[in-house]
Amino acid sequence: MFKSAVFNLKDATKEEIQTFLNSFDTVLTDCDGVLWIDNNAIPGSPETMNQFRKLGKKIFYVTNNSTKIRSDFAIKAQELGFIASADEILSTAYLVAHYLKGIGFTKKVYMIGSNGIGEELKAVGIRYIGVGPDHVCSDFKSMKPSELDSEVGAVVVGFDEHVSYPKFMKAASYLDSEDCLFIATNTDERFPKGGSIVVPGTGTLVKAVETCSQRKALVLGKPHAYVRKFLESCGLDPARTLMIGDRCNTDIELGVRCGFQTLLVLSGVTSERDLEKIRTEKKPPLPDVVLPKLGDLMALFPS
Ligand SMILES: [Mg+2]
Repeated sequence: MFKSAVFNLKDATKEEIQTFLNSFDTVLTDCDGVLWIDNNAIPGSPETMNQFRKLGKKIFYVTNNSTKIRSDFAIKAQELGFIASADEILSTAYLVAHYLKGIGFTKKVYMIGSNGIGEELKAVGIRYIGVGPDHVCSDFKSMKPSELDSEVGAVVVGFDEHVSYPKFMKAASYLDSEDCLFIATNTDERFPKGGSIVVPGTGTLVKAVETCSQRKALVLGKPHAYVRKFLESCGLDPARTLMIGDRCNTDIELGVRCGFQTLLVLSGVTSERDLEKIRTEKKPPLPDVVLPKLGDLMALFPS
């Protein structure tokens, strides 16, 4: 219902709210800007998510952050008042492990990334190398083929604060072999901006490796559609799934690509003014429904 209508749920009748709530069994939600901002819960978000659970909805918290393991995310969510368990966290680090395990990958991963991905790989029995600083020699071209590990069968790129020239050399050299898989967690350009400093995001590293390897990565995070495959692998129906987010180009785009229903909230990146623009320009991806903030649903739930 409300397909791409950008309909304000606050204007819905009781019957429409009931039909809307009955139209999905699974709720996927973005975290930052929907549930919390930094370390503060957005008022009403924990109660709303917990109410979805009470109504019997299956819940997944979706994040493109690849630096933490799922239990760390679950602890943060719990501390902010959300009922959450590690297996409800859909992080990109976990999706990488899920994907590689799903295709029966048995070789080693060369990683530009952090322990967040490493721990998830370890949990499914996949070996990896590359985490941490890689020494930059004064003669930067002097890398020898013997420095490459012949067991590597995939390059994974996620966020890595130790990214360096030798890492790019190794990644591109492994990817020179056509059999080597090339996977990226996400392509976010930047971290959300706090002050005047721009903090480059994982997309920066992915583009760099794509450039020097002359290949395209398979991207598993938002807005790429691997999440749909994940849900299907759990026996869940994408058409009866609601995706909640604060950004059109990642969260709502993911929903549209996967055939989910979509709810845009204005408590994060998208402003009231952006919404006006979305309504007048009608440029996809358009959310089905909108709310100022997720917690506004509390007043709309049937009593
Ligand atoms: Mg967000």
